[in-house]
Amino acid sequence: MSATATGETSKQTDTGRLTGLDGPAVLDFTQGWDYAPAPESAPAPIADSYGHFINGAFVDPIEGERFDTVSPSTEETLSSIANGSEADVAAAVAAAGEAQPTWAALPGKERAKYIFRIARRLQERAREFAVLETMDGGKPIKESRDVDIPLAAAHFFYHAGWADKLQYAFAGRTPKPVGVCGQIIPWNFPLMMAAWKLAPALACGNTCVLKPAETTPLTALRLGEIFQEIGLPPGVVNIVTGDGRAGAALVNHKDVNKIAFTGSTDVGKRIAKATAATDKTLTLELGGKSANIIFEDASIDQAVEGIIQGIYFNQGHVCCAGSRLFVQESIAEQVIAKLKIRMGSLRVGDPMDKNTDVGAINSRQQLDTIVKYLDKGRKEAPEFWESNGSPLPERGYWCRPSFFSGVQPSHTIAREEIFGPVLAVMTFRTPDEALSRANNTPYGLAAGVWTDKGSKIFEMARGLDAGVVWLNSYNKFDPASPFGGFKESGFGREGGLQGLRAYVKI
Ligand code: NDP
Repeated sequence: MSATATGETSKQTDTGRLTGLDGPAVLDFTQGWDYAPAPESAPAPIADSYGHFINGAFVDPIEGERFDTVSPSTEETLSSIANGSEADVAAAVAAAGEAQPTWAALPGKERAKYIFRIARRLQERAREFAVLETMDGGKPIKESRDVDIPLAAAHFFYHAGWADKLQYAFAGRTPKPVGVCGQIIPWNFPLMMAAWKLAPALACGNTCVLKPAETTPLTALRLGEIFQEIGLPPGVVNIVTGDGRAGAALVNHKDVNKIAFTGSTDVGKRIAKATAATDKTLTLELGGKSANIIFEDASIDQAVEGIIQGIYFNQGHVCCAGSRLFVQESIAEQVIAKLKIRMGSLRVGDPMDKNTDVGAINSRQQLDTIVKYLDKGRKEAPEFWESNGSPLPERGYWCRPSFFSGVQPSHTIAREEIFGPVLAVMTFRTPDEALSRANNTPYGLAAGVWTDKGSKIFEMARGLDAGVVWLNSYNKFDPASPFGGFKESGFGREGGLQGLRAYVKI
């Protein structure tokens, strides 16, 4: 950080940071501070091309189809990726089927050792993984470094602990593995989603076929390298890259016993239909339109941080994003004024810079979706405000953090998941009104409540139709804490004891 003026007689500079010509220097926090560039420099070599990871080895796609994975912040091609066909999926499922009885027969403490080694190796290579995640997905390096990779490792550590204690997790019962698990994950938290799905499955004696999202395959494939390094038996985890066709082939494969899916509600519904008349078990973690509710007795500055964290974290590509903000009418003006100031300090741009707060939108397609919602919102809502700080890079997919205020519950931007850095601000007068407006959505994934009254906290948490309710905080995750939704946000839980349940038959 570089400040330009010092001393008691300094006056306001061009950027207005320091005032106090006739008295002691006063820092003016309403103006921007300049940051020196702080690019992450850790090496994360990327091969020109990658195959699928099947039966412990990287193999070429059977039908030879490939696609490119592109950096959303530079639009450069990073690597050529195998495009999974039905035949590739069949090979992966066969490998998983063959490996499953031996893996399940291992004593729990032996399975735990493998899972523990995965966690350790992830920690040792954390910086490389963070760089790769940011290059492939566009999220700020400080988020990959401080959230995605540590949480992924934490999930493997946590579930390593359960592998030899399953009889205590389900006391009085004899938990058996489900078999072969097909796991389909999205692009917003690529490595973390892989860990959320693989770690409990492995702990319970299942084997897996993982299908990463088309735009973010690189960290899952690097995880394949870790499986080789730690000597995970071949076939226990298989990774088939590709688009929705590979996902659908996995869902429809007769030898897959369980499907775990995270992604859009539309695709989730299609998967629910496809598995309905089969003996496959299913868990769905789908979209959301989560409410972040600020009461007049809340600590306002803390709540404003919670709003920022809730909607602008990971460019708003978060299923549980606090995308509907409900502010008590008496403090609405104050909250909006403070929000604007805070948003003015958000740095949008090069995700490899350690000071960047908001990185690139994950893909051209997602940017187009967000722009469509912005256009619609401008027609619906009376007020629109976007942060307008640093200039955006010339190449790449960018969207400035913004909010609409005066939003009505019937507006499209208040009802549909935008999956971008766009907030819909609404007001309420009473706790009952806040509850009924917050619950007025087909989704039920998460919510945030900000107040200093304990009784109000419990009252609200009880009344909210949401799988997770954060109190005076937002976006807090822990492997021991179950995560998942109600209504169109899906069913089943990931994390904690509840998350293990989906991976055992009892
Ligand atoms: P999808 O639901 O299409 O993608 C999630 C995963 O499912 C990806 O691996 C995808 O492959 C795969 N997939 C796609 N079609 C099928 C299918 N028919 N059968 C099985 N698997 C399939 O999300 P999108 O990436 O298309 O994003 C669209 C919208 O979904 C976003 O704008 C956002 O609103 C929402 N979304 C929500 C997420 C959440 O966590 N709630 C996560 C991601 C998106 P591929 O990557 O090749 O498409």
